[in-house]
Amino acid sequence: MKQQNKGLNTICTHVGQLEDKEFKGAISPLYMGTAYAFEDIDVKRYPRYFNTPNQVALAKKIAALEHAEAALIFGSGMAAISTSLLAFLKAGDHIVIQKIIYGGTYNLVVEEFEKYGISYSFTDGFGAEDFEAKIQKNTKVVYIETPSNPLLNITDLKAVADISKKHGLVSMIDNTFASPVNQNPIDFGIDVVIHSATKYMGGHSDICAGAVASTEVNVKRIFQLAKNFGGSLSDYTVWLLERSIKTMGIRVRAQNVNAQHMAEYLHAHKDISAVYYPGLPSHPGHDIAKKQMKGFGGMLSFELNADFNASKFQKSLKLIKPAMSLAGVESTVLSPTLTSHSLLSPEERKRQGIADGLIRFSVGIEETEDLIADIEQALEKVRKEKEMAV
Ligand code: PLP
Repeated sequence: MKQQNKGLNTICTHVGQLEDKEFKGAISPLYMGTAYAFEDIDVKRYPRYFNTPNQVALAKKIAALEHAEAALIFGSGMAAISTSLLAFLKAGDHIVIQKIIYGGTYNLVVEEFEKYGISYSFTDGFGAEDFEAKIQKNTKVVYIETPSNPLLNITDLKAVADISKKHGLVSMIDNTFASPVNQNPIDFGIDVVIHSATKYMGGHSDICAGAVASTEVNVKRIFQLAKNFGGSLSDYTVWLLERSIKTMGIRVRAQNVNAQHMAEYLHAHKDISAVYYPGLPSHPGHDIAKKQMKGFGGMLSFELNADFNASKFQKSLKLIKPAMSLAGVESTVLSPTLTSHSLLSPEERKRQGIADGLIRFSVGIEETEDLIADIEQALEKVRKEKEMAV
């Protein structure tokens, strides 16, 4: 049986497992070595060549999870993103990028690309026509993120892949928000799939890592740059990440269920003015998400009614923690205006639809009645303070 044909949780648990020949242990041994014997001109084993035993084993698991031929593991999501982009772009080239993407990727493009002579265009919307409209003669790459941060916008994977193929371009996706549990972009024709493994792959808010999955040829091309840029991950963290991914399927599926429940509760709440979650039929991307996602994910955003102080609300939460990152087993909230999107001007935030009171909610695996009780007590506190102020 081909590894890719195994079921999700079987891949998570078993694919890429290193055999413990000496002691017959049930888990992969950890090889921390940085000095390996020279075997062959083609097999020079070294952490920064991305080919230590634990790196190679984990890459097999991630490739299988993304229905890809090969994968590479990096020291962070941004190392995976920057190395992958620059592997396909050189001076004089142009890239078409989705209108709203993760703030770090946005900064990489607007702060660094000019130095390399690479030009870029952000799309005006999320439709396939918005991407095609920005393609130029020197365009080489189309870059998307779906669902996107923080409004969970949905981009049609197949439509973008088709346009990229029509124009001979490489299509790339940041698949972090969906995770390989909920979305496999290669099945829709996308060429290169990137993850911040810090998020759902790690899943416990204690690992910083990145990954890229694609064809053997593309991964070889990315590796050529990766060994020069040096963004490899320590073998201990590689080993921890392998352990974390074993439970990714059950974690993320539980988060899907919880997020749907929380989205429906917030959507029906009199104190909440907007909820952004692709699992809600009211979400503009719901129909496309239904076609290309196996689950709608654990991320959602919502806005409190204008007369509620969003900052006080977040500070009043007791169980749900304020946190800069996302996708852990614990539920967390964040204000995009104060954190991930704080470097954008107020006008740019408004243009992107990011209200000052927007709250991004990373739903964990807790019991939803406890999450609801926490939100209710925080709303009650803000309501009382509001009444006392009048
Ligand atoms: N992509 C998305 C969607 C993210 O949310 C993040 C981090 O928050 C990144 C990429 C960058 O990942 P890392 O922080 O692991 O470099």
